[in-house]
Amino acid sequence: MVIIPDFQQLNERIASCSKDDVNQALQAEHPGIQGLAALLSPVASDMLPELARRSAEITARRFGRTIQLYAPVYLSSYCSNKCAYCGFSAENKIERRVLTMAEAEREMDILQERGFNHVLLVSGEAPSKLGVDYLEELARRTRDRFASITIEVQPLSTEEYTRLFQAGITGVAIYQETYERRVYDQVHLSGKKCDYDFRLESPARVAQAGMREVGIGALLGLADWRCEGLALGLHLAWLRKSFWRTGLTVSFPRLRPAEGDFQPLAVASEKDLGQLLFALRIYDHDVGLVLSTREEERFRNGMVGLGPTRYSAGSCTAPGGYTHPDFEGEQFSVGDHRSMAEVCASIQAKGHDPVRKDWDSAFQKGF
Ligand code: SF4
Repeated sequence: MVIIPDFQQLNERIASCSKDDVNQALQAEHPGIQGLAALLSPVASDMLPELARRSAEITARRFGRTIQLYAPVYLSSYCSNKCAYCGFSAENKIERRVLTMAEAEREMDILQERGFNHVLLVSGEAPSKLGVDYLEELARRTRDRFASITIEVQPLSTEEYTRLFQAGITGVAIYQETYERRVYDQVHLSGKKCDYDFRLESPARVAQAGMREVGIGALLGLADWRCEGLALGLHLAWLRKSFWRTGLTVSFPRLRPAEGDFQPLAVASEKDLGQLLFALRIYDHDVGLVLSTREEERFRNGMVGLGPTRYSAGSCTAPGGYTHPDFEGEQFSVGDHRSMAEVCASIQAKGHDPVRKDWDSAFQKGF
């Protein structure tokens, strides 16, 4: 299992970095974990234009001028966990629903009609309401209509991930939320999610099951973002070394207003998020970097070409919300309300290509 040092140690490592260390990291082909610490440091915060330039150069070299688009499909708002920061938390009094198979297919059909080929199936963590059988059935019914179907649900066993992979699901997002154990214990109040180590080991189980892609991430606003960035770098390096065939992505969701009125425990501004994105791109040239509709239109437009490779668009975070736009019970409120067509147009206006399809399940059948 990956070992994540205490945040005090990570913080000391970051704080000790000098301007020379940042310049060295900017010039190195692969700066390594010490270079990442420098790029995340307060000294590097004053060198953001240099970081942005280097990140843009690496992104263009590795990914060209492409940005992949996807949309989430919320399947269920039931959750047996109590997470202090989430609208779906078990103690929140919201109207909850789980979509029937027909309703879920309808939501996916709507996204397909809007031009989406990559979908992310999302649910709260309540296996008795939505378990592996449901996901397996939905994947089998829809796999031929989408370039990729990924999931963001409760952590599963390797055998369960294997079943889902065989049914047509090709990737799993499983965010640690925070790598800081003390804060993790503080915000995860009850339920299976309280087990930090089981969650930390989940990406490895996904890779062992043969999935094409695993997404990791930290929810910014819970603990120091610089330390979260360094912990993400360590986790990425460990996964690369252990599962070199698996594609990796990183998300950096920032806390958004949600039912329950949780207030962030740590500040992560747009500028901080920019630095974090640039630092990780310079550190790992191949990692997919995801920028979701949690962020505002202005920021997302400004980041085109500088590092992110995947954008969500036209997202609704309430189950059934594409079919019934008046449905309430969102997991959180989104920051960018534009449609897929509007997001595509602004990506193109910046000289980049929005990619709606870059994979076909037919490729996999030959392996
Ligand atoms: S963050 Fe996930 S596990 Fe926690 S309450 Fe929300 S949906 Fe449930």
